[in-house]
Amino acid sequence: MKTKDMYREGNELNEGESKINYEWLYRMDFEKSPDAKLMLKERRIIDCNESAVRFFGYDSKEELLGGMPYLLSPIIQTDGKPSMVKGNEMLTLVEKKGSHRFEWIHKTKEGKSFFAEVVLTLLPIEGERVISASLQDITERKGIQEVLEEKEEFYRSLFHNNHAIMLLADPDNGEIIDVNPAACFFYGYDRQTFLTMNVKDISTSSEKKIFSTIEDVRFHHGKHYYLKDRIANGEIKDIEIYSGPIRVKNKELLYSIIHDITEKNRTMTALEASEKKFKELFHNANDMIFLHGYDENKRTGKIMEVNDIACMKLGYRREELLKMTPWELNVEDMRRFVPENTKRILKEGHATFETVMQTKDKKRIAVEINAHMFKLLGQDVNLSVVRDITERKETMKLLGETIAYDKLKTEFFSNISHEFRTPLNVIFGTLQLMELCLQRGDGDLNIENIERYVKRMKQNGCRLLRLVNNLIDITKIDSGYYEVQMQNYDIVHLVEDITLSVAEYVETKEIGLVFDTDLEERILACDPDAMERVVLNLLANAIKFTNPGGTIQVYIHDQGNHISISVTDTGIGIPKEKLDSIFERFRQVDKTLTRNHEGSGIGLSLTKSLIELHDGTIKVESELGKGSKFIIELPIRMMQNKAEDSHFMRNAQQSKIERIHIEFSDIYSINI
Ligand code: ADP
Repeated sequence: MKTKDMYREGNELNEGESKINYEWLYRMDFEKSPDAKLMLKERRIIDCNESAVRFFGYDSKEELLGGMPYLLSPIIQTDGKPSMVKGNEMLTLVEKKGSHRFEWIHKTKEGKSFFAEVVLTLLPIEGERVISASLQDITERKGIQEVLEEKEEFYRSLFHNNHAIMLLADPDNGEIIDVNPAACFFYGYDRQTFLTMNVKDISTSSEKKIFSTIEDVRFHHGKHYYLKDRIANGEIKDIEIYSGPIRVKNKELLYSIIHDITEKNRTMTALEASEKKFKELFHNANDMIFLHGYDENKRTGKIMEVNDIACMKLGYRREELLKMTPWELNVEDMRRFVPENTKRILKEGHATFETVMQTKDKKRIAVEINAHMFKLLGQDVNLSVVRDITERKETMKLLGETIAYDKLKTEFFSNISHEFRTPLNVIFGTLQLMELCLQRGDGDLNIENIERYVKRMKQNGCRLLRLVNNLIDITKIDSGYYEVQMQNYDIVHLVEDITLSVAEYVETKEIGLVFDTDLEERILACDPDAMERVVLNLLANAIKFTNPGGTIQVYIHDQGNHISISVTDTGIGIPKEKLDSIFERFRQVDKTLTRNHEGSGIGLSLTKSLIELHDGTIKVESELGKGSKFIIELPIRMMQNKAEDSHFMRNAQQSKIERIHIEFSDIYSINI
């Protein structure tokens, strides 16, 4: 029927009025609607349209009529309720309310389920409870919605279950719109309280700063900030915050993802502090410190780090050292030990050894190296603490020398006691003999014997005196109280005089004595007494250690600004290794030798000291079994304001013969 007809029919029914036939219209809508329509009475289908037949996949209307609507549904609905129960609930509801819209799962004749939106309406037919049902297939719409719901669920879960702290805020006023549980946990507020708060309540920044940051996020694409927030218990937390705008229901909000970096910052600060401390330790250490790696052949690699003290001690700039290997810093004669040490460090992880390093200007430094291996970024590296032990070595040497000196001193005292005791024994022995003769009153005490006894006692008295003199002088020299009596004196005359005065004695020992000089006279500043003792001592030694048939030569040479006096003998000589030490205090080359020749081992030491007081030097050349040569060099200097002294004037108290007696007392004693 056409729309026009529809109106005409209506007009026909209500003449004179333009009245619409609603019942007819309703009927038309029921019949022709694309939506499925059912008419229910007493909960059974009493009528349906063609759309409904198609909707449910049936062939004819008759198949549906008389059936119950729940039979067009699966047994269970989405909420788990049986369709029959839920269907009756819906019908009861519509009988009460008049109409009701709800979603329902239906099924076709073939059993295929689909979503439908159902509108039930109670029709106002008197005395009858007729319900019209209009059904729309919403499976497609439902599908989209489900995806949307799933998505929403996903994002909600992302927001709620995320361990990252998340906040949503209103950028206009800073009000907090939503927070996730991680945020509640971190800040210590429950969600309800949080939603009444403002970002101002949690930020330690000023309001101005907060809103300038928000502005930065909104309008300048700012994303990443380091801030400080206050949590519920008042604690201040360092936070790293990622922010951005987000549109929710047409309103622009600001999301913030917050990371608590308090601990990280604390660790970083502690790390920085400890790094600073180690850096200071590294550079302010007293020892040199090197860090170096190894090359592919496990040889020491380039220096990776070095401290200031190492640069200072070795005289290199840091940049220069960073181009070198520790191998190059070893002195050449120690480099051959490097591979062996490297092997040990690599095998055992650490090693301590001594070596000698060299500075840029090739100065040697004795060092002790404490090397440790460790891994740095997966590579083997060596940290070596290098201590300069030059001083320690010197101290050790000094200590060794002190100990040796001490031993020598002890030896000297036992030796010197013997030296004192021997002449004293002789003196007392002689006195006893004389006493015995006197007691007996026998003729043994004749003039001849008395002379012999007196000579013997005098001789040994001289030995004691020489010893005491030497000891006193050496002590004086040691303590700086010995005063040389410098005079301008003819040294040639002095040496010649003293040499000739022992000539007679030397001859009795069957030793030849030669004196020679290329100078007639040489006046220079010296202490004649001291020089005389020096020459006498050298001559006495030469006689002591030269066998009969040998020769002793005394030479004086002019050397320009100094003169040299040499005493050469063809005696037993001195072993090479002892040459350096014979001028040292208390040294005797060989105890067994010296037992044949009395002596305390202080003669040469005193000689050397006396020569040095003249600013001169003394040295020895000797070959074992062939002889020795002692050479004195004296500077030629003159005393100001002093005339040449006559050698006849000096030391009037003690005659030269006596001095020779004293100096030679060791040798005489053997013969007596
Ligand atoms: P001493 O008083 O014992 O002779 P010195 O200091 O004069 O002490 O000499 C030290 C040592 O040097 C002697 O004991 C001797 O071993 C050695 N010596 C000194 N002069 C000679 C020499 N001319 N020939 C060989 N040995 C010598």
